[in-house]
Parts: sequence; structure tokens; C-alpha cells
Amino acid sequence: MRDVYVPGVNIGLVGHVDHGKTTLVSSLTGVWTDRHSEEIKRGISIRLGYADTTFYRCAGCEGSDAYTSGPECPECGAKAEAFRTVSFVDAPGHETLMATMLSGSALMDGAMLVIAANEACPQPQTKEHLMALELIGIQNIVIVQNKIDVVTQAEALKHYQQIKDFVRGTIAENAPIIPVSAQKGINIGALIMALDETIPEPERNPEDEPIMLVARSFDINKPGCNWREVKGGVVGGSLTRGLFKEGDDMEIRPGRSVQVENRTKWEPITTKITSINAGSNKVIEATPGGLLGIATKLDPALTKSDALAGQVAGHVGKLPPVWDRMKFEVTLMDRVVGSDSEQLIEPLKHKEPLMLSVGTAVTVGVVVNAKKNVVEVLLKRPVCAEIGARIAISRQVGGRWRLIGMGVLTE
Ligand code: GDP
Ligand code: MG
Repeated sequence: MRDVYVPGVNIGLVGHVDHGKTTLVSSLTGVWTDRHSEEIKRGISIRLGYADTTFYRCAGCEGSDAYTSGPECPECGAKAEAFRTVSFVDAPGHETLMATMLSGSALMDGAMLVIAANEACPQPQTKEHLMALELIGIQNIVIVQNKIDVVTQAEALKHYQQIKDFVRGTIAENAPIIPVSAQKGINIGALIMALDETIPEPERNPEDEPIMLVARSFDINKPGCNWREVKGGVVGGSLTRGLFKEGDDMEIRPGRSVQVENRTKWEPITTKITSINAGSNKVIEATPGGLLGIATKLDPALTKSDALAGQVAGHVGKLPPVWDRMKFEVTLMDRVVGSDSEQLIEPLKHKEPLMLSVGTAVTVGVVVNAKKNVVEVLLKRPVCAEIGARIAISRQVGGRWRLIGMGVLTE
């Protein structure tokens, strides 16, 4: 049996800025994921936030009243039973932070699309984020109609209809829509029930070779600490499959860049896992679902300030290939969404720079060969990815990277 206190899935929060994603994570978990000083100052999420919560069920209550995120039933006060732990990935909603949103979506097993009821639906990033879920292939979606405390019932119903119209024909067409107030804690039980039903734990094979997508990396030493006490570099991210154990040898690709005769070459890094943190618990074995902090023997200079974000970690010699040139099959959308103009999307052009998101990696590629459905790009920074990997494609439109379609890596 799985430990019910170990997170088994990552659930993303996506949607327009200020619609209440960070507040909702906080009301589900008690954790405020905006921790960075810049985030607190500006009041927006910049990096990916992570927080875990355990879902509980009360044996004496029925339907959504039975579901809660604490050990005591808010309905009847009885002791509720823990049955499942999930991890939330809070993505930034600001339009300039789409790259972060896209790299976060690589880690999601399902997502909540948060839509504030006090603004007309859809807002630009409501559209753009739903499209990103669609392109990346995240099927399990719960729509959260938030801020119902500040609208009348008639307004809420009208807004519900707008949501219905908006999702018709999309991947979220049949997604449940749960009205809540994240701030006032209204209807959170119904939301937990919908999340439990809509985002089940996928079948996992513990025999699979581990693949971890690195989203963060850190130097955890205090400035000026004694060299004898220096701790090795830490990488943070999620396993998409397989498991890691304390003491495992680990490889990270593409690794580090080295200059060889005026050319930049990338060399895989190998190290040993010295300890593993899952959420805030130290564990000896880690599985998919939830944020892992993997402590290693690496020189912390290699891992400081997210230097390894976007890379892939696994067992030595068992990682997918590294590409500095990629060929992929392209599907472009008809129009640019997420901005006011919604202009038509032209075919990809020779020599055009593209922003490509592959797993948690974000890299720029220049088109060197463009046929109708197949494109070849030369990458500024190589990526580690399997054949068949999905690539989110963005192009510069009006001075900003805009998501325009997706590709499937062929060679
Ligand atoms: P994010 O950008 O989507 O992460 O949005 P935040 O969680 O930072 O919330 C943006 C603002 O909306 C904050 O001032 C919150 O206090 C407010 N807010 C969030 N949820 C609710 C809600 O359910 N009701 C009301 N009235 N305000 C809310
Ligand atoms: Mg936020």
C-alpha cells in the first residue's frame, strides 16, 4: 500500500493573473507559495510555487461535505481520515511569464484552471493557459470559478455560462466547474472531491528508469561559511517516472558547458545522491508526484541560482539523448491568443528564432529548414529529451513571446 501522506500527483494552478491561484493554494494547504521578496513586493508569482496537502474524508458526512484538507471534519467536528496527498504547482499568471508557466506544465498530472467570477470570461491568460494545457496534453482539468463572494448569484450564473461557452470544443469541455471563494474558504470540500475524481493517480511502474525534470537548483550554503561545512549542490524538480534512492549515482544532462577551441560543448554531470527531501520530509526513496530536493556531492557553484533548471536527471547512462538540433512535426494554431489583437499565425519561416519549451527546459532555436509540417531548428542551448516529446512553440509577436503551436520531436 502507498503511504497516503506521500504526494502521488502534481496538480497545476493556471489562469489569468490575480484570479486567485496563490490564494487557492493557500486555502487548500495553509502555505503561501509567493516566497520570493520580489514576488511579495509586486504581489505576483514569478517562480513556480509548490505546496503539498493531504485530503481527508469524514465517515459520518455525505457527498462533498465529507471532503476536507484537515484531520477534523469542518461539518460535524469528527475525526476525518487521510486518504491521499497531492502536490500543487502554482504557475505565474502574468503574460510575461509564459515560459515559466510552460515549464511548470511539464510537471503537471492535471490542472485547475482558476477563473475569477468578477471579470468577464475569458481574460487573455485564461485563454492562453487553457491552450497551453491543450497543446501539452494535460487532459485532467478542474475549472475553479473563484471569488463567488463578490458577485451576486445571477452574476455567478451568467459567468458560469460564459465559462461553458468558452470551453466548448476544447480539452476542458467536460471539465467540472466548481464555484468557490478561495479567500473565504467557501465550497473547498466540493473542489477537493472534484480534484480527487478528475485527477487520479496514474499507474506507475517502479521498474521504470527514473526521469526527473529539474525545475530549480540551489546553493544552500550561507555566504562565508567554513569550507569544511560546505554542503553539496541541491537540484529540485519532479520525477515523471521511476524512483530515486539515497546513495544512487545520478547523471544530469545536458550538464555543464565547457569551452573547447572557442566552441561551447556540453558535458553530462555525474554525482551521487546524498539525501532526498520530498516536500519538507526527508525520505530514502522518492517517487513521482511532489517536489523533490535532491542533495548531491556537486560543487554548489554548479547549482546556484537555478543554473540547472530545465535539465534532466536520471541514472548514469540511462537518460534520453541530448539535442543541439531538433526536427519536429509542427501543428500551428490559427490565431495568437493571449493578446488583444489575436492576429493570424503565419507559417514558420527560415531563420526565424523560436522559443521552445521541452519538459522544464526553455531554449531558443533558429529555424534552419521549414517545410509545411516538419521543421528543423538549431538550438542555442541543447536539451535532453526523448523522441516523441512535446515541444511548445512560441514566436515573437509585438515584442513578446507568444505561444503559437506545438511540435513532436522526431529526430
Ligand atoms: P494569482 O495572481 O492568481 O495568484 O492571485 P492571488 O491569489 O495573488 O489573488 C489576487 C487577489 O485576489 C488578492 O488580493 C486576493 O486576496 C484576491 N482573492 C483571491 N481569492 C479571492 C476570493 O475568493 N474572493 C475575493 N474577494 N478575493 C480573492
Ligand atoms: Mg499567484
